[in-house]
Amino acid sequence: MSYLQKRDPDVARIIQKEYERQVNGLELIASENVVSHAVLEAAGSIMTNKYAEGYPGKRYYGGCEFHDQVEDLARDRVCALFGAEHANVQPHSGSQANMAVYFTKLQTGQKILSMNLSQGGHLSHGSPVNFSGKIYNVAQYGVDLKTEQMDYGQIAEMAKQTKPDLIVCGASAYPRTIDFKAFQEISEDVGAVCVADIAHIAGLVATGLHPTSVGVTDFTTSTTHKTLRGPRGGFVLCREEDGPGIDKSVFPGMQGGPLMHIIAAKAVCFYEASTPAFKEYAAQIIKNAQVLAETLKNEGLRLVSDGTDNHLCLLDLTNLGLTGLAAENALGEAGITVNKNTIPNDQKGPFITSGLRVGTPAVTSRGMKEEEMRKIGTWIAAILKDIDNTSLKAKIHGEVIELASKYTLYPEV
Ligand code: PLP
Repeated sequence: MSYLQKRDPDVARIIQKEYERQVNGLELIASENVVSHAVLEAAGSIMTNKYAEGYPGKRYYGGCEFHDQVEDLARDRVCALFGAEHANVQPHSGSQANMAVYFTKLQTGQKILSMNLSQGGHLSHGSPVNFSGKIYNVAQYGVDLKTEQMDYGQIAEMAKQTKPDLIVCGASAYPRTIDFKAFQEISEDVGAVCVADIAHIAGLVATGLHPTSVGVTDFTTSTTHKTLRGPRGGFVLCREEDGPGIDKSVFPGMQGGPLMHIIAAKAVCFYEASTPAFKEYAAQIIKNAQVLAETLKNEGLRLVSDGTDNHLCLLDLTNLGLTGLAAENALGEAGITVNKNTIPNDQKGPFITSGLRVGTPAVTSRGMKEEEMRKIGTWIAAILKDIDNTSLKAKIHGEVIELASKYTLYPEV
């Protein structure tokens, strides 16, 4: 970053500090990842210089021939990766990918049925503080409080009672496999549109390690920056016949110029995700999450739903008498970054919480495997069981730095 250092040393210094935080720490936030040099180069490229409102072959600005090529490449690659008929790669984020589907299929005031934010859903699925909860009428399902997993019979019953126009499946903090076929059937039974938001699990779906929603549910939305390991952004997949409606909703419906540097980086991400090495990576994410879950359980900690099928586990801290907030802060002192998270039936609010969400996509990208997960699980448990022990946190912090700094920040694909 020699230009940045000369032109703006203040920003360069902050970025350098953040680099050191990332490289010396253990990133266990389930929605985060680290991208390859190739993705970073595309995202930081001169493709940012151009307005390209419209779509390939039909732009509102001249000089878009190379932007057409890169957007076509991104669309073709993501369709091939997921087996989709149509893709829109312009949404700036996952929330906007969801917005695009709602704008295409719903009128203001129509009804959405989705998963409750406090039980694993996402803000953009109808939370009252989000646009989705303000302009649509929202009913929400949760998990079965005994199994802490989705109960498709209960959801079907709720769909019959609430008669939604659109059902959203997909979650931000759900450690188990989601049955997209069951959701599509429930939706068809009540005449609703079915949207699968695979933001968290996209890398697992792309590699066949989680059952796909593409060709199953009416629409699939996603982010590119979680298990898929691309730049920050979103996309929508749908049938050919729904393509024009989605495209119109994204532009001119809700966005102006697309972020073409990010679309170039998305194209790189979709290529990387199609390689055999990425499939190995995705399988390792799950193995790592399962070993981490087992280690935490062996240490006496309780996991929501007693384990994981995917990239994350959700710790219930109630038995330890801890809040998620206190646990997040204590682990942060030792260089282990996690986020507090509500658990099913949480008695505490979203800023305090009784749980922690712990995910393996980023540490797996850096090359860590089962042995490192056992170490990390043991450190987490030790700190949570003795949360005020400053010298223990300092000692573990030293060990965390020693471990983390052995691994590159940039995944080889
Ligand atoms: N959908 C789900 C399930 C998510 O977990 C998230 C982000 O965490 C999003 C959508 C939204 O993504 P963004 O933050 O890019 O708007």
